[in-house]
Amino acid sequence: MPLPGDPMHDSDSNGRQLLLLKTRAELQTRLTRIRVDRHHGETPLEANFSDQAVQRENDEVLDSLERSAEWELIQIERALARISIGQGNDCSVCGRPIEKARVSALPSATECAICANKLSDSKIPISM
Ligand SMILES: [Zn+2]
Repeated sequence: MPLPGDPMHDSDSNGRQLLLLKTRAELQTRLTRIRVDRHHGETPLEANFSDQAVQRENDEVLDSLERSAEWELIQIERALARISIGQGNDCSVCGRPIEKARVSALPSATECAICANKLSDSKIPISM
């Protein structure tokens, strides 16, 4: 029976997993709300021209919110998948341990800071 705080127990990884699951649930709720709002946005455009402009602007905002929430969800799924195979703390690119500070700041991180920088510089889409 492991005691709480047992050093053999990977509580870091557990806490991170719980946090990711919680964030995932929040994102899914947020996405559902965004999609419901978008659906309202698809009702016929306002007759008044300036109202139309406002409606389109709202749609664009919702679009970008939806995209960023979807992107975050993908990242979380990848991190959870790696944690489940015991590689949550290893960089998916170079295999070196991901910096602890980076994991605490960004629980969905699957690359070390160096590889993440390279990836964002080259704009190569991260594959699953
Ligand atoms: Zn790396």
